[in-house]
Amino acid sequence: MPSSRLMCSALVVAGLGIAALNPAGGHAQARKLKVHISVDMEGVVGTVTGDQLGPAGFEYSRYREFMTREALAAIDGARAGGATDIVVADAHGNGENLLIEQFPADVRIIRSWPRRLSMMAGVDDNVDAAIFIGYHASTSNTKGVRAHTFSSANLTRVALNGVTMTEGAWNAAIAGHFNVPVIMMSGDDAAIAEVQGVVGQIAGAETKRTLGFHSASTLTPQASYDLIRNTVRAAMARRQEFKPYRVTGPVTVDVSFKNYMPVEVLAYLPLFERVDSHSIRFRAKDMVEASAIMEFISEYRPDITP
Ligand SMILES: [Zn+2]
Repeated sequence: MPSSRLMCSALVVAGLGIAALNPAGGHAQARKLKVHISVDMEGVVGTVTGDQLGPAGFEYSRYREFMTREALAAIDGARAGGATDIVVADAHGNGENLLIEQFPADVRIIRSWPRRLSMMAGVDDNVDAAIFIGYHASTSNTKGVRAHTFSSANLTRVALNGVTMTEGAWNAAIAGHFNVPVIMMSGDDAAIAEVQGVVGQIAGAETKRTLGFHSASTLTPQASYDLIRNTVRAAMARRQEFKPYRVTGPVTVDVSFKNYMPVEVLAYLPLFERVDSHSIRFRAKDMVEASAIMEFISEYRPDITP
């Protein structure tokens, strides 16, 4: 990137002791602008069933490519809008979906689980803007393609301070903890509307229109890449208009499970209150702690190895 080359040459000049030859007379460096991109898969162009979403699916290898190229389109748009640093979190399934060899050399990619901050790993006080690519609607949504919250196999609802959460809203609250606004998301129309309903008017790129849990009217991949790149670039240009979604602590989290036993066993711990047969509630001092507890609930099994 031109900006990093500029910084490198400035350092070389300073190292030679001829900084005074700089006609600008200063050490002007391009301001750093760091963007975090969290990439899920159910909202990626064309995904409708498990055939695209995991290694057992016959279309998975092609859809890894589409997912990767949507992330790359977001990077292009972010850079066109002034981003100098980019961190990408692979936030779907096994966390090993993105084809990392296709990314620019100066991008960092976070892979696999478990990890603190989960889908938002990599976000911190140094990040200026967050972007969600390939996001989907929540398990409480009646419309979204592959609608679920964190675990389609295990959870039926997650609420934060009584407000039903989609992954996008929950992750926006994690970003908000670090004062980071979410400026853009892509996914189906239901997913975008659901996040905007909680977080506010972040820029949306609709990659497909939901026709049901396993059906959609979709863009083509190339049209999706173009839309994502342009939407990110436009959002970056008005970045100051987006406010962080701040949920100040302590927070109360309600989690409902499909099955009975996780609730019974979790309720042995004083941290959890059993609200009903399939639901627990806990309090956390802030979103970072709430995220860690959710990650524990999602990942812990007595037989985890190594
Ligand atoms: Zn997801």
